[in-house]
Amino acid sequence: MTDRGLRRLLGVLAEGANCLAVPLEVFFPEPCASTADALLVCSRCYVVEECAEYMGLVEGHVSPTRMHGVAAGLTASQRREARAAQAVA
Ligand code: SF4
Repeated sequence: MTDRGLRRLLGVLAEGANCLAVPLEVFFPEPCASTADALLVCSRCYVVEECAEYMGLVEGHVSPTRMHGVAAGLTASQRREARAAQAVA
């Protein structure tokens, strides 16, 4: 992705991300705590596709063990599974 593409993506997220109005702890709950509230916020977010694209860029280069919290309507576990499935395909 070009710098221009990344800036556009970040601009879209900055304007439309529902999570910006929600306490961070909702998206990074304590281990074993519910992620339902964060997933509900994501389900009503208009920029979920852009968020998924951004998370792919950010998390695409880190170890799966460093993936935490809810993002793009998915838990960290779900994002790890999606990434593993993409690697196999
Ligand atoms: S999809 Fe979820 S994590 Fe992504 S910007 Fe929207 S509310 Fe935030």
